[in-house]
Amino acid sequence: MPIATMNPTSGKTEILIEPHSAAEVDERIAQAAAAVEALKATTFAQRAEWMRAAAAILDDQAAGLGELITIEMGKPIAQSVAEVEKSAKAMRFYAEHSEEFLADVALEDPSTVNASAAWTRYEPLGVVLAVMPWNYPLWQVIRFAAPALMAGNAGLLKHASNVPQAALFLDTLFERAGFPEGSFRTLLIGGREVGAVIADPRVKAVTLTGSEPAGRSVAQIAGDHVKKAVLELGGSDPFIVLPSADVKAAAATAVRARINNNGQSCIAGKRFIVHADVYDEFAAEFATQMSGLVIGNPLLPETQVGPLATESGRQDLIDLVEDAREKGASILTGGTVPDLPGWFYAPTVIADLPEDARLIQEEAFGPVASLYLAKDHEDALRIANQTTFGLSSAVWTSDPEEEAFFVAGLDAGAVFVNGMTVSYQELPFGGVKRSGFGRELAAVGQREFCNLKTVWKA
Ligand code: NDP
Repeated sequence: MPIATMNPTSGKTEILIEPHSAAEVDERIAQAAAAVEALKATTFAQRAEWMRAAAAILDDQAAGLGELITIEMGKPIAQSVAEVEKSAKAMRFYAEHSEEFLADVALEDPSTVNASAAWTRYEPLGVVLAVMPWNYPLWQVIRFAAPALMAGNAGLLKHASNVPQAALFLDTLFERAGFPEGSFRTLLIGGREVGAVIADPRVKAVTLTGSEPAGRSVAQIAGDHVKKAVLELGGSDPFIVLPSADVKAAAATAVRARINNNGQSCIAGKRFIVHADVYDEFAAEFATQMSGLVIGNPLLPETQVGPLATESGRQDLIDLVEDAREKGASILTGGTVPDLPGWFYAPTVIADLPEDARLIQEEAFGPVASLYLAKDHEDALRIANQTTFGLSSAVWTSDPEEEAFFVAGLDAGAVFVNGMTVSYQELPFGGVKRSGFGRELAAVGQREFCNLKTVWKA
């Protein structure tokens, strides 16, 4: 993919950007390595001041940045502006809490280890590479960068090739706020150049958010060089609705869970698993609401569903739906390409999926929902756990026993009860199975890129 802004609403190329040469990449890695040394002489308080200044830049530019996000990847403008605000909030959160999250912890009774004192301390690892996707071009980067920089690491960003303007904005953001030169640097490179950056001895760790093939490749190279890796990969999250739930509220939330970000979110509810007793009621309500959504130009405030970010992403979605249709699934609404320029796809609900439909196992990265009828609780859990993914999940119930059954039984990094999955800066975020490993956000996310050093004193 060339490094370019191709406006998904028009399908036209807005800007083509020259990638960095090997020499420029080398220079940028050197700047980041030098910044690690400079950051060692800084305090939490200093870094917090700079982080707050960076958050203020986001606040000041929220409207313009929101527009840039929408032009580069097509999400409705209100969601783009909300992404900028959420990013600024996370920066302030880490400015406030990092010192406490990374404080030394003393062993209460050091005599048990024959010491006069023993404690642990968190130290930065150094330069960390972040390989990031286009779906939340600001938030995905900030949720890595804010904790990493507050811990004293430097960051290198290899952003998705279709959001270069967001990548270039981030290249200078932290320096403008006061961080030492090189504390955060963008590398305008393709996926194929990433291996050499991971292998570089100045780079100590890598985090990737994106697809399974990209994650596998990055983790393999990191493994070859014995470097830490965190992977946030895809998901096909179950959204389970039981008879004890408020079915109308569940259906309304299901629509938001499925179409948020034009359906392109790893933690979106994608498979809607509904108990037989309330299946018809839920299916009718859900399909009606999905069919009533306003599709169109995402810069217009009334638009609820914009285009897919890339033409190839839309083609993947079309292929998944056509596969299901050919194999006999029922399309309750959608399943069509609207007559609009750009890469739109109609919000779609599919039911009666045959066992061999690709949608049973594969992730639909767009506004396509699969409906499953579950005979009972065990059946609902079986369907929920039958994919190779394990990112998040949701269950709707008012019965404490049902809740406990699903919270314990779901193979996922998170369970949301009577709501939809959202990433919160206060809560750890990450998956199991092929959704990846490691965690982002909260204290545990920040500690992923630290050396937990044990100190023992005679
Ligand atoms: P990719 O995984 O291809 O892209 C994510 C990032 O990884 C981009 O920066 C990309 O760079 C880079 N990349 C791609 N291949 C490699 C590689 N072999 N080595 C190193 N870096 C690489 O995601 P797509 O944009 O193609 O989206 C496809 C699928 O990815 C979706 O269907 C979804 O499953 C998943 N995804 C998950 C996301 C999440 O939030 N967990 C977000 C986005 C996608 P470049 O753009 O230059 O190729």
